[in-house]
Amino acid sequence: MKRQRWYIPVGFWLIFESIAVILWLTKEQVFYLFNFSYIGTVLAVGLLLFQMNNRYARHMVQLLVGLYMLVYLGLICGENMQIEGFWYYLFTGVFEAATIHYAVAKIFGPLVFGRGWCGYACWTAMVLDFLPYKIPQTSRNKKWEKLRYVTFGISLIFVASLFLLQVGHLERIMFWSFVIGNILYYVIGITLAFLFKDNRAFCKYLCPITVFLKPASYFSLVRVKCNVEKCISCGKCKRVCPMDVDITDNSRKRKNGTECILCMECVKACPRKAL
Ligand code: SF4
Ligand code: SF4
Ligand code: SF4
Repeated sequence: MKRQRWYIPVGFWLIFESIAVILWLTKEQVFYLFNFSYIGTVLAVGLLLFQMNNRYARHMVQLLVGLYMLVYLGLICGENMQIEGFWYYLFTGVFEAATIHYAVAKIFGPLVFGRGWCGYACWTAMVLDFLPYKIPQTSRNKKWEKLRYVTFGISLIFVASLFLLQVGHLERIMFWSFVIGNILYYVIGITLAFLFKDNRAFCKYLCPITVFLKPASYFSLVRVKCNVEKCISCGKCKRVCPMDVDITDNSRKRKNGTECILCMECVKACPRKAL
């Protein structure tokens, strides 16, 4: 392993550790120290394993972070980290739980690590990525992509209605919407994967989170780039990409550029080590 590569996992760990300490001290809750230290450490170890060519590194990170958030934070602690949980905390004016999670992972974080959330932490994709269609067998349908705005709007209208109608027991409703919402995500996600023969069809067409993720990831600091002098235009990188990104184009306007989940399948497939 090249020596300078150690800086990447260490850098990620330091970013998360800084967030952990800042939130621990400002919010006076040790939970934030534990939470972001855990996620940062898992990510850093995963990145190290990836650099050592461990083929399971990404799935390991996905499972350790995804299960922690789904089972521990969601089901045991009762924090709704889905998009309706974000609206809920936003409307109550509390900068806690889901609002912090969204700010770090999905709204401002993508300026640094793009859609790393989608490749390494999302508990929906954690399951979808084990389905048989890792490489899409059908081409992307651009028209269907607009559906993400519908699901985004539905989540917003759902939570806004609860507040406008002054419905009681909101905490309880948020917990159950987390449970039911996740079951729906899994059922629809798995169905779409088999229908489109594409594990990531749900991510491409329906996921409301992408409305937050895509604009910031356009400016992402961390990107896969192509060394055009080494590239022989064999097309292998495009064939293995689960998100249909044209990674050989280094411009920010590359085809489906904001869809890149940094899974590194293209990097692994490139015979010239051009990525
Ligand atoms: S697009 Fe949505 S479902 Fe897919 S990985 Fe990202 S957040 Fe998860
Ligand atoms: S294969 Fe490459 S271009 Fe495609 S999503 Fe993964 S990292 Fe991005
Ligand atoms: S796999 Fe490598 S060599 Fe082939 S087109 Fe992609 S970047 Fe170029």
